[in-house]
Amino acid sequence: MTFDELNIAEPILRAVREKGYDIPTPIQEQAIPVVQQGRDIFGIAQTGTGKTAAFAIPILQHLMESRATEPQAAPEQPQETIQQENRRDRRGRSHGRARDNRAIRALILTPTRELALQISECFTDYGRHTGLRHTAIFGGVKQGPQTDKLRNGVDILIATPGRLLDLIRQGHIKLGGLTHFVLDEADRMLDMGFIADIRRLLPLIPKKRQTLFFSATMPNDIVALSRSILHDPVRIEVAPVDSAADTIEQCIYFVEKPEKKGLLISVLKKEREKSVLIFSRTKHGADNISRTLKRAGIQSEAIHGDKSQGQRQKALNDFKAGKVKVMVATDIASRGIDIKELQIVINYDLPDAPETYVHRIGRTGRAGHTGTALTFCSQDEHMKVNDIQKLMGKKMEMILHQA
Ligand code: AMP
Repeated sequence: MTFDELNIAEPILRAVREKGYDIPTPIQEQAIPVVQQGRDIFGIAQTGTGKTAAFAIPILQHLMESRATEPQAAPEQPQETIQQENRRDRRGRSHGRARDNRAIRALILTPTRELALQISECFTDYGRHTGLRHTAIFGGVKQGPQTDKLRNGVDILIATPGRLLDLIRQGHIKLGGLTHFVLDEADRMLDMGFIADIRRLLPLIPKKRQTLFFSATMPNDIVALSRSILHDPVRIEVAPVDSAADTIEQCIYFVEKPEKKGLLISVLKKEREKSVLIFSRTKHGADNISRTLKRAGIQSEAIHGDKSQGQRQKALNDFKAGKVKVMVATDIASRGIDIKELQIVINYDLPDAPETYVHRIGRTGRAGHTGTALTFCSQDEHMKVNDIQKLMGKKMEMILHQA
């Protein structure tokens, strides 16, 4: 199947072609027609499967088409909103309503700022010829630039839960005109403790809407949450967690803990030209690895929750641009990392949950590229390897490393 067969509006199709995509990924092939029909989706898909385009393309199309038929249509708004519109702050700026009457019609809720920025980039790419506006809001940065953008009017809002609720409370955001709601990485949201925020948000958005729910894994609490949010959804499942690694060559090194540093340095020296992402379970560990590499003359960047948004973004940009070849990250900080040509993932230690291993190695081998995942396993981590193999239903190559 090609994108031409998906009935995508010309301005979006053109942007997709400019982006260099020829063939829709399986989730795009399945989800785009369903979203076009207006149905809800319960999607089980990981990042790396092309799920962002799977929801962004048909949402852009819906919004473009409804804007064409009802230009400047003001959505029905509750009484409270109309009063809010007349409120002005000390600088005389009005709150709650966009300058040109645009109302937010699509909300994408995502757990981390990195993901929010990444999704925002996708909307920039696919929506560049549509005239639709979007912005991303997330915590950890000043809200002024974000509220300025909102005041100018956006059609699509990409948000992390905390900042979204803050700005709603302050009257900067009204969701009464929402027609599309995407809950992205729902399992991660629950992991990160956002369930209460999601529950607070739901009464603030219109009941009549199209909802697209995505999760990489499907534990019981996710199923329960999806039931309370979705209306007669179509279930779409691609690349389930246990088959995610088909394009990734995986290898486990059994190595004593004190030897891990030496092994890492020798691997990196051998693979100098390649982009390598190293995972550490803790922030402290990530800094430690980065310092060790520095002493060995290998330039790297570490990203984790203690780094400022600016530092993280700069590190990510340098890594994406190939200026820095080695990045060390914690699991949460790595969530938004989407680097097409990432060749190697190294698990310096094993994560607690086997699913996290699959997420980690899914940073490489994306969109048809092949990748390599190397895992350093010390004696106390052996059991975790068994759990991972069980989850993936396959055995990995094992190498006994001796210094
Ligand atoms: P996602 O799962 O949305 O994070 O997408 C993973 C990567 O695949 C991103 O770098 C996208 O730009 C890329 N991608 C998405 N759809 C396609 C496609 N149809 N063809 C080639 N690359 C794609």
